[in-house]
Amino acid sequence: MSSTLFKKLIRKFKHLCGQFDAPKGVIILMYHRVNDALPAHNLVTRTKVFEGQMRFLYRRRNVYQVISLKEFETGYPAVFEGPKTKVIITFDDGYRDNYQNAFPVLKQFGFPAAIFLTTSLVGTDNRFNRYAKIPGRDMLNWEEAAEMYAHQISFGAHTASHPHLPQFSYEAQYQEIAQSRACVDRNLPRGERLDTFCYPYGEYNADTLAIVRDLGFRYALSVSQGVNTPETPLYELKRVEVSGFDDIKSFEYKMLEKYK
Ligand SMILES: [Zn+2]
Repeated sequence: MSSTLFKKLIRKFKHLCGQFDAPKGVIILMYHRVNDALPAHNLVTRTKVFEGQMRFLYRRRNVYQVISLKEFETGYPAVFEGPKTKVIITFDDGYRDNYQNAFPVLKQFGFPAAIFLTTSLVGTDNRFNRYAKIPGRDMLNWEEAAEMYAHQISFGAHTASHPHLPQFSYEAQYQEIAQSRACVDRNLPRGERLDTFCYPYGEYNADTLAIVRDLGFRYALSVSQGVNTPETPLYELKRVEVSGFDDIKSFEYKMLEKYK
């Protein structure tokens, strides 16, 4: 038997036994919306597909351990130790469908998650332009956030108005970031505040990095793809984007060592 064929068979066997070549490190998943009414889009995951992806993580809990972002923050860098690959679930922007569709699934599996709020939109009828036609409120309100907060969902700052930060002056960037942090603090219990910031569009420059640090954030999430290791810069943590076009199979692939 050729050695490639042998390796293939071993992999197949491990797969059947539920053993995966999971990457070493911490995977931070990036979602936006979980919604069945919107047209197919990169940012829109269907509820059934989301449920299937969470079920995959649950069934493979001998390999993957879903942890909260808080556990990452307080456990750093020991969080990289241990046999299991840690997984953190994040949602950007603060859509109401996170409450309506993702939250019941997360509760079902007992998974924590973090949501990064565009704070000027919370509880308002304002929305992102691309969703202008959606009837009713499209963004979370503070009551929904508080209910989720009681069930392992934490909230972080994603600026006040979701601008392209590098196009702004230092002062304007400072306003956007400080305002959104203060808003999250004002509206949710402070004890569990996230010390992680999330850059809109994954964009930042030297000013952004300085501001985020000066405001006391200890970590920040980018959109660069990959798995985090102890060498990953703390203000440029990587994520694995789960696209609306990912089905269960492509999600499983993204969770493997070879995806890196
Ligand atoms: Zn965003």
